[in-house]
Amino acid sequence: MHTRKRVLVTGGSGFLGSHLCERLLEAGHEVLCVDNFFSSARSNVEHLMDDRRFELIRHDVTFPLYVEVDEIYNLACPASPVHYQHDPVQTIKTCVHGAINMLGLAKRLKARIWQASTSEVYGDPEVHPQTEDYWGHVNPNGIRSCYDEGKRCAESLFFAYWRQSGLPIKVGRIFNTYGPRMHPNDGRVVSNFIVQALKNEPITIYGDGRQTRSFCYVNDLIDCMILFMASPEDFIGPMNMGNPGEFSISDLAGQVLELTGSRSAIIHKPLPNDDPRQRRPDISLARKKLGWEPAVPLRDGLAETIAYFEGRLKAGLI
Ligand code: NAD
Ligand code: UDP
Repeated sequence: MHTRKRVLVTGGSGFLGSHLCERLLEAGHEVLCVDNFFSSARSNVEHLMDDRRFELIRHDVTFPLYVEVDEIYNLACPASPVHYQHDPVQTIKTCVHGAINMLGLAKRLKARIWQASTSEVYGDPEVHPQTEDYWGHVNPNGIRSCYDEGKRCAESLFFAYWRQSGLPIKVGRIFNTYGPRMHPNDGRVVSNFIVQALKNEPITIYGDGRQTRSFCYVNDLIDCMILFMASPEDFIGPMNMGNPGEFSISDLAGQVLELTGSRSAIIHKPLPNDDPRQRRPDISLARKKLGWEPAVPLRDGLAETIAYFEGRLKAGLI
């Protein structure tokens, strides 16, 4: 039997948040989307505004929020290195104060709360592929640390509330995810390469391009988030969420060039500090606990994402 819930999505107008809001509405729930638009535009959720079960509030999660909901997905936080390094202090505040505020809210409401953690908790990993029991290899004061350590502290807070107050938590470690509604200028590799290719501008590979990432299509990831939230209360994670296919950045550039038919040249730029050399999730836990498996191969997901950016370009929006 279907039960309608009131669901709070922080960071709901962002790339992942907007897809999550859409899916929750499709499932019949009421959605309260909270965002300060630090790294997104309202246009991501514009198409949901006519739905009376959807509400959008401009709010910064570093300040307390008083609302009444049944479930919370805490996604608020800039995710791309360009955005989270723009104001590192605010990034830490968003991760830490934001988590404290949302956990406090969940505690008062006795609501289930899901945290968007990240593969960045593993840093530049010495264990490959990464399993949830690996503690990571993170530079505590480098340029990525505002995000990496902020997210690690948020995990710590979630588990502290669970131990201390029995709060029903869920912690998901998201690996690189891509798809329509990525921010065209946030510097992430998939959006950068696609926009560069469509404009026939040089494709910028940082370093030698041999570093690897695993790319998950957004629809697969949202399936996993929703299944995880609905899983039995004693399964709290942390749980890896991502596509275990592993590709070098050079390989990704080749696929984007081929799929777009672009004339772009490939150029190399310096590798940013602390850029992880390799990354691939071990998703055995998600398979076992949720029966979840990503279904969209990289080529298909890239084709969808290219079509999205092509539309934006034609409309003069990029
Ligand atoms: P995004 O930048 O598109 O979305 C984040 C949203 O949070 C934006 O709408 C932004 O305006 C909002 N936000 C930032 N600070 C806020 C604050 N203080 N108060 C309220 N809203 C705030 O990024 P995304 O890719 O959609 O990522 C969503 C979440 O998933 C983030 O927590 C991110 O760390 C996590 N994550 C994403 C990926 C990925 O590959 N996309 C990987 C790992 C983890
Ligand atoms: N990258 C690149 N060219 C770009 C943007 C990114 O070569 O224009 C590289 C980046 O150095 C990293 C990988 O692509 O090795 C993934 O970068 P992204 O910022 O998307 O995510 P993250 O490093 O957080 O996984």
